[in-house]
Formats: sequence, structure tokens, C-alpha cells
Amino acid sequence: MTPAVPGLTFHMEMGPMSECEKRLLFSSDEIARHVERLAREISEDYQDGDVVIVGILKGVFIFLADLVRQLTIPVEIDFVRLASYGSGTTSSGTVRLTHDVELNLAGRDILIVEDIVDSGITLTFLREHLLSRRPRSLRICALVDKGERRSVKVDLDYVGLHLDKGFVVGYGLDCKECYRYLPAIYELIL
Ligand code: 5GP
Repeated sequence: MTPAVPGLTFHMEMGPMSECEKRLLFSSDEIARHVERLAREISEDYQDGDVVIVGILKGVFIFLADLVRQLTIPVEIDFVRLASYGSGTTSSGTVRLTHDVELNLAGRDILIVEDIVDSGITLTFLREHLLSRRPRSLRICALVDKGERRSVKVDLDYVGLHLDKGFVVGYGLDCKECYRYLPAIYELIL
């Protein structure tokens, strides 16, 4: 028999929901409140800006989409793709740029938008890389600031949520490419 919603049947029978236990950490309402606050702060700070938002794929795609739709200032948007985690839950310690920004950044106000900061290695690498494009300014916005394993000091200008430790999924964040579609953020019980 053809299921009414084939994708749903797939997830129920053999999808990621059955792979790991998870615990709700941040509900979609709580996330939305913080995204709204961040959008307000950013819009106020960049009244006279020439802003290019640089999102870090893939994890940022839902956060960035929600954030930019609440900004009250014009922005341009570009993306980078960085590889540091592979398919595991701990950093490899090295970062590789696999897709670079295409917009011209010289003399402009860059706002890096990241899903979650852990060791700080990814953002430090990207910050240095983008500074070489000679922007007028560069700031960083992160949805989640996870403190436990910070090994490189990185100044975050806008932070949505704080987390001590744990590996989280949902709202764009994955574990081996699963869970990105979940509307809230969960801690995986590994
Ligand atoms: P960092 O270089 O700061 O150690 O790691 C940043 C990147 O690692 C994030 O962009 C994200 O891709 C990944 N990461 C770090 N912590 C988590 C986590 O708790 N969950 C998920 N899904 N990814 C994480």
C-alpha cells in the first residue's frame, strides 16, 4: 500500500528518531524569542551599515532564515561551507574551507552567523579568513554559545542561547546529517 505521507512512514520505521534518545533543551518558542531579540539588537546596531551576512553552512540554515526575516535593515547574504567535525560529535581540530564567499567584502560590514560555538576553532579560522578581504568591520552572531570545550578565545557580539555542555541537535543542527529538520533543540543522550 502507498503511504499517504511516504517520508513520515520512512522516519517512523527506520529514521533517526529511533536511533538515539534525546532531551528537549530549547523549545521552538524559546528559540523564537531569542531570535527576535537578536534581530532587534542587530537592526539597531547597523542602522548605517552596509551589511553582508555570512552564514556557515549547513547548520545555520534555519537560524539564518528566521533571523534575516526579522531584521529591519537591508542586508546581503552569502555563505561559506567549512568542514571540521566530519561525521562525529567531537572536533577534528582542523578546519577546511570547502565553499568560499562570492560577494565582494572590501569596505563592508561583515556579520558572521554561526549555529553553535564549541572550541572556537571554526570561528577563529573564518574570522582570519574574512579579515583578509579587508572589511570595514566584522562581528559574530551565534545562536548557541557552548562553553565547556572553548580552547580559543573568540569574541561573540550577539549570542542567542547559552549551554554548558552536551551535544545538541535540531533547528538546523545535525548528528551524522540527521535531526536538522526538528523545530526545537535537543540534547542527544549518547
Ligand atoms: P568549534 O570549531 O567551535 O569547536 O565547532 C563549531 C562547529 O562544530 C559548529 O559549527 C557545529 O557544526 C559543530 N558543533 C559544535 N558543537 C555542536 C553540537 O553540540 N551539536 C552539533 N550538531 N554540532 C556542533
